[in-house]
Amino acid sequence: ATPLSVMVSTGRAAQMGVLIRSAEALELSGRVNAIVLDKTGTITAGKPSITDILPLGAWRRDPDRLLTLAAAAEHDSEHPLAAAMIAEAKRRDLSADALNRGRFRVHAGLGVTCEVDGHAVAVGNTDLIDRLDVGMPSIGDEDLDAIIADMEGLSGQGKTPMLIAVDGELAGIVAVADTVKPDSVQAIAALRSHGIAVTMLTGDNETTAKAVAKQVGVDHVVAGVRPENKADEIAKLQANGYTVAMVGDGINDAPALARADVGFAIGTGTDVAIQSADVTLMSGSLMGLVHEIDLAHAALRNIG
Ligand code: ADP
Ligand code: MG
Repeated sequence: ATPLSVMVSTGRAAQMGVLIRSAEALELSGRVNAIVLDKTGTITAGKPSITDILPLGAWRRDPDRLLTLAAAAEHDSEHPLAAAMIAEAKRRDLSADALNRGRFRVHAGLGVTCEVDGHAVAVGNTDLIDRLDVGMPSIGDEDLDAIIADMEGLSGQGKTPMLIAVDGELAGIVAVADTVKPDSVQAIAALRSHGIAVTMLTGDNETTAKAVAKQVGVDHVVAGVRPENKADEIAKLQANGYTVAMVGDGINDAPALARADVGFAIGTGTDVAIQSADVTLMSGSLMGLVHEIDLAHAALRNIG
């Protein structure tokens, strides 16, 4: 039978919008000593918007056309970065919908490729561009250094730079920024004061991830993780003897949520994440996680 103290704590949690699926999940929460937090949509709001557009080469004369092509390429992507691109095109009254699109492909954890108006368009990170073996615009090595410096500068501000390639040539850099949720800092400080090791896990690049981690007080970052490898990071911590909680919102996070001793889904996230988790944080605030762990400790004290 479920101890009464566990039922009481589960009920209190529910009143705070923290839905715990099983008594076992609450009991395990009280033993958690490592927490892995997804970045985008978990620590941050997950609603990125475009902050910078840096066209390259001939595209400097027509940044709107470049943005239109990129937005059209992202049309069928469900990624928040795609939504940011499409919203920016709309904001500038650029009609990406009218363009012909074909051979759309999602490269998980990298970006998208699509044929737009007869042009091969790619939008994604440096790994995507490397894989496509994209040439540089007709510029010298100096410019390549400048591109790399621009990307590092944007990443250092916690922004995520996306590269756009058109017909096999690098055409521009677009940066997006996401805001940290209002109580992420407070929640992370509370977890650390409980002696819990906090790790940020993200598919985003290392420089961007470290800048965001610094803003929120996380000192351990695992960046550039492909969706299929997120669960391995949980397993590594478990192999080192930790009882691990994972918090995430995306389809990408589902295997890691299932692998963790306790999986927490952000209630405003995807259904797949919620189905894979043991606990749902309805409001999306990480303070829900802190409260749940406090309630779990209280319940464990009563069980003895
Ligand atoms: P996250 O853990 O941040 O949700 P993902 O695994 O979804 O990361 O993506 C990792 C990286 O791949 C992103 O930071 C971005 O650089 C690139 N990427 C993924 N999807 C897209 C897309 N639709 N458009 C542009 N870039 C993308
Ligand atoms: Mg996410």
